Amino acid sequence: MNVASSDDEHYLLPVDDEHQYDDLDDGMLALSLALTHFSTQEDRYIRDHDLKVRAFEALQDGKDKNGNSGTNSHGKLLHRLRRHSVIDLPTHHPHPLVATRSKHLPGSQPSEYTNALPEEYPSSELVDLYEKVKMCLDMRHKYMDLSLQRCELDNPKNHDKWEIYPPPPKPTYKLKNKFNQLPGQHTEEDDIDMNKFPMSDVNANDRFELRHNDQDVYEVIDKTTGEPISSAPSLKEYYTDLNKIARISSDGPIKSFAFKRLEYLETKWNMYYLLNDFEENKQSKRNPHRDFYNVRKVDTHIHHSACMNQKHLLRFIKYKLKTKPNEQVIFRDGKLLTLEEVFDSLKLTAYDLSIDTLDMHAHTDTFHRFDKFNLKYNPIGESRLREIFLKTDNFINGKYLAEITKQVFEDLENSKYQMTELRISIYGRSYDEWDKLARWIVNNKLFSHNVRWLIQVPRLYDLYKKNGNVTNFHQIMVNLFEPLFKVTLDPKLNPNLHIFLQRVVGFDSVDDESKPERPINAKHFPPASEWDGSKNPPYSYYLYYLYADLVSLNNLRSALGYNTFVLRPHCGEAGDPEHLISAFLTTHSISHGIRLRKLPFVQYLYYLDQIGLAVSPLSNNALFLTYDKNPFFSFFKRGLNVSLSTDDPLQFSYTKEPLIEEYSVAAQIYKLSGVDMCELAMNSVKQSGYEASIKKHWLGKNYMRGGVAGNDIEKTNVPDIRIRYRDETLQSELSLVEYYTSLNKERI
Ligand SMILES: [Zn+2]
Repeated sequence: MNVASSDDEHYLLPVDDEHQYDDLDDGMLALSLALTHFSTQEDRYIRDHDLKVRAFEALQDGKDKNGNSGTNSHGKLLHRLRRHSVIDLPTHHPHPLVATRSKHLPGSQPSEYTNALPEEYPSSELVDLYEKVKMCLDMRHKYMDLSLQRCELDNPKNHDKWEIYPPPPKPTYKLKNKFNQLPGQHTEEDDIDMNKFPMSDVNANDRFELRHNDQDVYEVIDKTTGEPISSAPSLKEYYTDLNKIARISSDGPIKSFAFKRLEYLETKWNMYYLLNDFEENKQSKRNPHRDFYNVRKVDTHIHHSACMNQKHLLRFIKYKLKTKPNEQVIFRDGKLLTLEEVFDSLKLTAYDLSIDTLDMHAHTDTFHRFDKFNLKYNPIGESRLREIFLKTDNFINGKYLAEITKQVFEDLENSKYQMTELRISIYGRSYDEWDKLARWIVNNKLFSHNVRWLIQVPRLYDLYKKNGNVTNFHQIMVNLFEPLFKVTLDPKLNPNLHIFLQRVVGFDSVDDESKPERPINAKHFPPASEWDGSKNPPYSYYLYYLYADLVSLNNLRSALGYNTFVLRPHCGEAGDPEHLISAFLTTHSISHGIRLRKLPFVQYLYYLDQIGLAVSPLSNNALFLTYDKNPFFSFFKRGLNVSLSTDDPLQFSYTKEPLIEEYSVAAQIYKLSGVDMCELAMNSVKQSGYEASIKKHWLGKNYMRGGVAGNDIEKTNVPDIRIRYRDETLQSELSLVEYYTSLNKERI
């Protein structure tokens, strides 16, 4: 680890981050300018900074000369504390309210955290900025509370009595490592018994009734009161809130303010790391047994149809071609074709097949070409091979994909410490999709301790409309949500779906974000049933309907004791900044989020609320942002809640352990320490939708308490000193929000 050089780099190129402001972005010209001399903007920044330092020094000198200077009777003490806090660990920040209570005048700062205060004497502008921050956070909390996404304990699956079937495996080695086992340790794997899944006899149709409100959002009516059990903000309120945040975030002063806070956080981290890296290593070395390889890590963002690597898929195709050439696999052009016939029509034999002919790797020719990337899902560029091998709903009922999936599960189980949350599609094109998917999962017994599921909903209304699958947007939402409401009200209606849903943790919204769309403040948006034109609704509109229907669904499920879901969409990979704002309001956490580097204020909000970001730098590198420009490490240093994920191993990975590959590349590029990697792994578990009882096993039984009290180094391998730094830094930022907003109240 070469701390000096990375620090040098940081100081030599302060200009890099300054570029977060301009929208021209990553042009080579800007870069070359930056290397030779400072632009006016940078010049001003440096000059401002110099001025401040001088003013600060003058102030300190004045105080020293006068001994006790006017306003503060602890001038010297303050001075010493200040120096002390700059180079030391943050020790203890009293809550600012405590400070105000102890008769500090508004304006005379609480001395202990002078270091963190943005201004010596708070101006009304500053108070105003903090008010805005607080307003945005409050808005988000309202949306999260309504949809039961905020508090882990709102989800029945996180309660102690929640039953998980099949249960987590006992800590023994799997069959393959038989020779590693102690005598008597080995137990035969239990086969999954369908009758053991928790079922429910409750038919809640006599208690609740389903209907749509005037926005075409589902409402669950309690029959005894005649009132809905929950209500989401209306489409209009949502867009008003969205516009409010969008306006604030594009305001000059608040952008500079947030930018400075983020810079401060990063600089503070550098200082912390410089001084405590040795101590951290010492503590983690002292911790027995645990290391990066045996801390739990969850792949928080990975697509099921690309979860195997290419070599795996290639081997599987060859194997099928050799062993089952005469199996009928597809119905094309009016006749049934066997696998051999399919390959004959492609003029290929098993021997010809190689990774090169498969051609599914995406890192050379897909940059800024999402359209090309989508074609990479076709083996050898042939959609019929994708249909045969990578679809769940095909002529062979997804048999091949189920087999490959099982093999992937087996690899994961053998690795023991790697988990994945696979994203699988429900398109909303037809009403029976849920039924088919659940049947596929259950019939093929695709259950594993190492796997949970997310449902990805592609934003393809325009396509379905063109093909005549749907007449309006509302129909997609009906296809997507009605089966879920029905099975929640009466699980016996579709036991497969009820069982599958126990392993589903949330919903995702997917597609190419860089497609142009109409701006959110354009005009009034119609309710879903009136969206019947040929145009695709914007990202924010999709998110609203997913969110609003989820409010009702979650409240119903929670009332009946079934697990609830969260929204974890793809967001901020490319495209409009508004995506990140709509996700800020409506979602639990997001995938990607790299566009946050352009939005200091929104980034600061994501920091303050610790919204999870599942970043995939290798995927970004192939599609939207080269590795060296990826903001991942900067996010990490600032203390955003980031985890590493693979996105599409089929297109981006070379090895059998894609998640480790992702960590490994990041570790080498960014020079991550063992502690950094373990912290990332810990973040991934926290972001994941695993049941609390399992998270307790992986992170320590008090993990929900957060901070040092919630850390168990024997499980996480993250030293308390690191956790304390993160926690105190965050608490001190949050208490500034409280402090400054409370000043305004006092004035009133
Ligand atoms: Zn993805």
